[in-house]
Amino acid sequence: MAKEMRIETKCVQGGYTPGNGEPRQIPIIQSTTFKYDTSEDMGKLFDLEASGYFYSRLQNPTCDTVAAKIAALEGGTAAMLLSSGQAASFFSIFNLASAGDHVVSSSTIYGGTYNLFAVTMKRMGIDFTFVSPDCTEDELHAAFRPNTKALFGETIANPALTVLDIEKFAKVAHAHGVPLIIDNTFATPIGCRPIEWGADIVTHSTTKYMDGHGAAVGGCIVDSGKFDWFAYADKFPGLTTPDESYHGVTYAERFGLEGAFITKATAQLMRDFGAIQSPQSAFYLNLGLESLHVRMARHCENGLAVAQYLEAHDKIAWVNYPSLPSSKYYNLAQKYLPNGSCGVVSFGVKGGRKAAEAFMKELRIAAIETHVADARTCCLHPASATHRQMNDEELLAAGVPSDLVRLSCGLESKEDLIEDIEQALAKI
Ligand SMILES: *Cc1c(COP(=O)(O)O)cnc(C)c1O
Repeated sequence: MAKEMRIETKCVQGGYTPGNGEPRQIPIIQSTTFKYDTSEDMGKLFDLEASGYFYSRLQNPTCDTVAAKIAALEGGTAAMLLSSGQAASFFSIFNLASAGDHVVSSSTIYGGTYNLFAVTMKRMGIDFTFVSPDCTEDELHAAFRPNTKALFGETIANPALTVLDIEKFAKVAHAHGVPLIIDNTFATPIGCRPIEWGADIVTHSTTKYMDGHGAAVGGCIVDSGKFDWFAYADKFPGLTTPDESYHGVTYAERFGLEGAFITKATAQLMRDFGAIQSPQSAFYLNLGLESLHVRMARHCENGLAVAQYLEAHDKIAWVNYPSLPSSKYYNLAQKYLPNGSCGVVSFGVKGGRKAAEAFMKELRIAAIETHVADARTCCLHPASATHRQMNDEELLAAGVPSDLVRLSCGLESKEDLIEDIEQALAKI
């Protein structure tokens, strides 16, 4: 296919072009192993001299097909699927940083990622400095150290819904000779393609909008192929010097800038940690991707309509949604997410914690779940669920006030969603 396809076509057909008489839908290769005629054939695979499959802990054809589609959607050169978004975040950093290294991250990131960085990876000897996503360029520069190996942030943060100035973050990361890693889960490549704004590595929890049906947990890492590891060879010896644990291969030399990062993450980290996505899950993920462009438009339409309705309601204290002109992030959202942000809206119910709980009890369409970005509308009151160990003061400090309700607008009729909210608010 010589001509570059548009993103809607890539959603449907990217990554897989069947030959004559082959299956139209992607085959699920439910096999742990692959057979070879000679030991020499097998040996070439182990030396990374030939490409091919030998064990599904390292690579599987179904997973590679779906990863290739996501790479095409993000405009990257290589990608890999992982067992979860958590595994994707971990691999994206650990592929670059080791004990004694340092990473700068936006402070408004997914809670699970924050814990991974601030607690678990800290125990592995990697230090993190957290900066406000709204910091100035000077403040961002000041967070860097000689041993900093990456800068990390989320396009639209879950659950804070801050919008990151990706271009600014990329500029500062590159001034310090490190890649910018962007978790693009909430925006999806339909809303924003961070590589076009200077990001080097993009990660996803495919569990959210990409799957979109609450069917399979998964993650993905995409490499832009643009970061010049050799220009900063001292910082990234794992990519620019021989890997003695893998037959002395130098990844950036053998696989080029376009393939080095993902090949290293597969050959070392997937080999040792085994956080694979199953071929069956990759198949479900692909079904979700086929309609991602159609679904995201509806999620954004419903999110905006609900946010506008809530903003005008006298029982609602405040609304946080980046595509509302009243949002602090409106200008950044217009720049990075001109076609809409996402389906997640957060807001405060007047009357605080009790009113929020009472309101949610009355909802009929929106179910109470610790999930977001699904076809079915769901909601969560963090103060009585994920953050219930905190008192009201601690909640405020964490940016999760006790009256906060997070509503993830699904694909239902927006009129039904608004009528559901209306009747629930009328009862409190
Ligand atoms: C959910 C989520 C993750 C973690 O993904 P899992 O698939 O649950 O492991 C990471 N980042 C963001 C932005 C998320 O919303």
